[in-house]
Amino acid sequence: MRALICGAGISGLTLAWHLERAGWEVELVERAPAFRESGYLIDFFGPGHQVAERMGLLPRLLDVRYPVSAVDYVDGAGRTTSRLTMPPDMFQVISLLRGDLARVIQEQVRSPIRYGTSVASAERSGTMADVRLTDGTRRTVDLLVGADGAHSRVRELVFGPEHRFLRYLDHQVSAYILRDEELSRRIGARYRMLTVPGRMAGGYALRDGRLALLFLRHETDPAIPADPAAALRRHFGDLGWILPEVLPRCPPPPELYHDQVTQIEMARWSEGRVVLLGDACQAVSLFAGHGASLGMAAAWVLADELAHGEVAGALIRYEERMRPAVEEVQRAGRRFVKWMAPATRRHIVARDLMIRLAGLPGLGRLFVNSLSPGGHRLITSRADHLDDHLDDARDRA
Ligand SMILES: Cc1cc2nc3c(=O)[nH]c(=O)nc-3n(C[C@H](O)[C@H](O)[C@H](O)COP(=O)(O)OP(=O)(O)OC[C@H]3O[C@@H](n4cnc5c(N)ncnc54)[C@H](O)[C@@H]3O)c2cc1C
Repeated sequence: MRALICGAGISGLTLAWHLERAGWEVELVERAPAFRESGYLIDFFGPGHQVAERMGLLPRLLDVRYPVSAVDYVDGAGRTTSRLTMPPDMFQVISLLRGDLARVIQEQVRSPIRYGTSVASAERSGTMADVRLTDGTRRTVDLLVGADGAHSRVRELVFGPEHRFLRYLDHQVSAYILRDEELSRRIGARYRMLTVPGRMAGGYALRDGRLALLFLRHETDPAIPADPAAALRRHFGDLGWILPEVLPRCPPPPELYHDQVTQIEMARWSEGRVVLLGDACQAVSLFAGHGASLGMAAAWVLADELAHGEVAGALIRYEERMRPAVEEVQRAGRRFVKWMAPATRRHIVARDLMIRLAGLPGLGRLFVNSLSPGGHRLITSRADHLDDHLDDARDRA
């Protein structure tokens, strides 16, 4: 059996890993000219963590993780206004760079990855998919997988234009990595965040004198600015803290990651021999903080179904198994917007009050869960039934 996977991100690579071990002939095409370095930290936990464990990746992931000892909310002068202390190894959360997770998976993938290439067209041909690549070559495969992210090209070619599936969450996000040993020492292994109504800027010190910076801004217009670096300077330049030092050194894309904050909602995830995977069909947004984890879980479930039956039925069962967990996490993500990016002073005051309450016995764990950067672990327990699916499937295997 032959599969062509469009997109060598976390979901596509995880699927390649599983399919090639199940005897499939796999090829990946990736639009980027080379391996994509990451621009932001993610919290990795839940079902994806379990999948990584089964793949034997945990020792490598623990090597590249970053310890986040606390989240400090700071004011414009850099003074800490409230602090959440993170208990070590809480819920086995691993904080790491998106690119480090992708690299650890890719190190174990044997299938060829064709960089600087995408899918130009895809047509059904009996029980196969006929695919033309942007380099002019053709493939006839048993399965074409669109694992090419929230702005998926495969989705556009096979299912229709993006606006039919994209739910814009009224925010835009930017992230980049800066090398500055002195600033990095000053920030340290605490995630620091500055929030004013409608805007959030965060920083965390990485290894080798680097600093990961994240910016989130309320914006009802989904249009991406023509010059995202200039827009970032314009929108955050007045906030104080370390921003006057870091914003003038903001790189242009692709080193600067800039995108809308979105969720993807679709009535179907497959059509004939074409299936979507990860953010392409189930993006939950950074507000839900589960995207990478759910993408790996989805790859595992899809590979598991393909190993247990013919392709058409496997695609339907894959969607049936994943969809309830995805929709639940999406709903929770939407509810979380007001806490991660408070739109009003009232919400900021309420958040700070919650953080103070978090110091009370029994409540701390709950609040650390819900307010940590990039990952809202309150949702973890809601997605736990996905773990049950994974366990059932493992028992079957
Ligand atoms: C700021 C931020 C914080 C986040 N925090 C967390 C977190 O804490 N925990 C968590 O689990 N998730 C988090 N996420 C979400 C997570 O990063 C995504 O859900 C995850 O990366 C999705 O993986 P994917 O492989 O499906 O898609 P992507 O990571 O988008 O990968 C898609 C791949 O396809 C390639 N591609 C795109 N278009 C084409 C094309 N036309 N042809 C060929 N290739 C193409 C891209 O270059 C890329 O390599 C966060 C996201 C953001 C932005």
